[in-house]
Amino acid sequence: MKSSHKKKTKATIKEEETSLSEPSSCHFFNDLPEISAYRSHLLQWYDQNKRELPWRTVAMTEPDVNIRTYAVWVSEIMLQQTQVATVIDYYDKWMKRWPTVENLAAATLEEVNQMWAGLGYYSRGRRLHEGAKKVVSDLNGQMPRCTEGLLKLLPGVGRYTAGAIGSIALGQVTGAVDGNVIRVLCRVRAIGADSTGPVVTEALWKIANTIVDTERPGDFNQAMMELGARVCTPKSPLCSQCPIQTHCHAFRKVSIKQEQDSKRLQSKLASKLNTSVPEIENCCKFSKFIL
Ligand code: SF4
Repeated sequence: MKSSHKKKTKATIKEEETSLSEPSSCHFFNDLPEISAYRSHLLQWYDQNKRELPWRTVAMTEPDVNIRTYAVWVSEIMLQQTQVATVIDYYDKWMKRWPTVENLAAATLEEVNQMWAGLGYYSRGRRLHEGAKKVVSDLNGQMPRCTEGLLKLLPGVGRYTAGAIGSIALGQVTGAVDGNVIRVLCRVRAIGADSTGPVVTEALWKIANTIVDTERPGDFNQAMMELGARVCTPKSPLCSQCPIQTHCHAFRKVSIKQEQDSKRLQSKLASKLNTSVPEIENCCKFSKFIL
């Protein structure tokens, strides 16, 4: 199926942005039972399909909150511009060599750069090192215990990274909006406006903070990211395997359009043959679309 994306006029974009600043807009989740069903569908899928990753194991099993927060921080920084498959090996080696924030603070920048070699974007390793030294010298070796603290005190930690560490390591009830989550939310709530603009960015954070599961915020955020990476992919999303299909406005829109096209075709054929034709809806497959 071809992309249904049409060039928007400035007026249409403005209209969409205005609608996104209204709390009752159809682009939000306003219905508590729907939010609850969304959480449960997504988490159920995550529990059955999640990849076993070393930082997930640490987040689940490490009882020391300081080590847990440090470990998730390292993983999030490594994952910022690098694929999961590449990060795994680097992460394992890093954590073996510097299992605590104190160990990292005691390393030299040269050692850090050597360990980082091949991962690219060396400033990430440098900032981790700077952050570790800051935690040891200014915070008595204690990693910040909340999202705001992570954001304010650690170099290289932005809004997304703070939300991810806060929810995964500290159980803070906050959303975490990265590129994958933006795509999922834009499709689920049929948001076609430019997702890099400030109005849409704020709206997406608001949605993420509304729907995040209060009992399992870290798993919920990881499930959203995993869904974006493996199911709701940029091209050819696997909607037939999607656990939140029933909540997805984009899916609904495309399905309705397909049904209409199918009926139109059916009546054309019927008038051509002047006879009835069999149902053809079943032949149509929702294979791909891009908002
Ligand atoms: S139904 Fe399709 S478009 Fe909607 S969230 Fe799932 S994979 Fe993405």
